[in-house]
Amino acid sequence: MTGKRKPETICVQAGWEPKKGEPRVLPIYQSTTFKYETSDQMGRLFDLEDAGYFYTRLQNPTNDAVAAKIAELEGGVGAMLTSSGQAANFYAVFNICEAGDHIVSFAPIYGGTFNLFAVTMKKLGIDVTFIDPDASDEEINAAFKPNTKALFAETISNPSLVVLDIEKFACIAHSHGVPLIVDNTFATPINCRPFEWGADIVTHSTTKYMDGHAMAVGGCVVDSGNFDWEKYGDKFHGLTQPDESYHGIVYTQKFGKLAYITKATVQLMRDLGSIQSPQNAFLLNVGLETLHLRVARHCENAQKVAEYLNNNDEVSWVNYCGLEDNKYHKLAGKYMPNGSCGVISFGLKGGRDRAIRFMDNLRLAAIVTHVADARTSVLHPASHTHRQLTEEQLIEAGVQPDLIRLSVGIENVDDIIADIEQALKA
Ligand SMILES: *Cc1c(COP(=O)(O)O)cnc(C)c1O
Repeated sequence: MTGKRKPETICVQAGWEPKKGEPRVLPIYQSTTFKYETSDQMGRLFDLEDAGYFYTRLQNPTNDAVAAKIAELEGGVGAMLTSSGQAANFYAVFNICEAGDHIVSFAPIYGGTFNLFAVTMKKLGIDVTFIDPDASDEEINAAFKPNTKALFAETISNPSLVVLDIEKFACIAHSHGVPLIVDNTFATPINCRPFEWGADIVTHSTTKYMDGHAMAVGGCVVDSGNFDWEKYGDKFHGLTQPDESYHGIVYTQKFGKLAYITKATVQLMRDLGSIQSPQNAFLLNVGLETLHLRVARHCENAQKVAEYLNNNDEVSWVNYCGLEDNKYHKLAGKYMPNGSCGVISFGLKGGRDRAIRFMDNLRLAAIVTHVADARTSVLHPASHTHRQLTEEQLIEAGVQPDLIRLSVGIENVDDIIADIEQALKA
């Protein structure tokens, strides 16, 4: 890393910085393994005495270059790519939690993460308390217990579009001696860098804007290096006490500010193995090179579409923090002055049935499960991703039965609006 470059420059230049005679473009190291000259050289790698590549399940140069780019974009000290956003969120939490532990999470979060926490982590013996971000400070503080290890939230929640008050919740987490983990998928580091506001760990589903072309599922965990694990040494003993699987090394002692992300790589990734393939890391890097251009256009287009919907008589409500009457407009202005994301949610007069008819009549906007790529797309969570929930459960999850999730792409905005208009008339 070379000082503080601007995000646009980082997107294009960071990560792979070739020396004399090396390829200009990040190479795909399509190799599971790496060669050494002596047995001792290899042995030292396994003891973490030397840094170096030996097996792609732990580290691969292509992946590391892309992870370094994302770390620099977020202003972190290090990052690790994962095979998916799901894996990233699992690793981020599991790196500091074990059976008998507890986490606090915002209730309005991505459905996949909700299931991971509420069902699968519970089976591993890790309990979760979901909080309403609008609850009183008293209620929120009461959710923390002596065995709580982290607070989890999304910068902008998918699909309910709740904006996180990062400073406030970082303060709350720290007052309970735990890190704030923020899933920054929707905002991206172009619009928001949670570390600047006190978050400790950032995660991404790189599948969304970072890839931007709907080509490769992937994830990333980024470490700010700021959380003082040793201050709460007993609580985070996985980082502050000897790891028997490496002859008793202590991560905080050996790796300092890189303790958390090093443990995630050399212990969790070694043992659980949800690596991103170097091919996908290469594709992700191509996406990252234009992230700053695409995100700006997504936001510009989404703002115009949101304003169009807001002024349309057929539309009963619109949720987009770029609208002045939105509940999160002020908060978004503080944390994301250049724009939030390209995703809008709205409802139509006529409710659920009307929503389905509207979507079936769209021509340019496609019905897909995906969000946040170059192409405009649409989804009706109550009929698709949240299909199994009753109307009551839908409301609890922040998903109204008539909610349409519109992911505004980077086509010409007049064409996107014309498509919406014809589908509303049909
Ligand atoms: C999609 C998504 C995830 C899950 O990521 P995958 O790459 O699909 O595994 C996690 N968090 C958010 C906010 C998402 O939008």
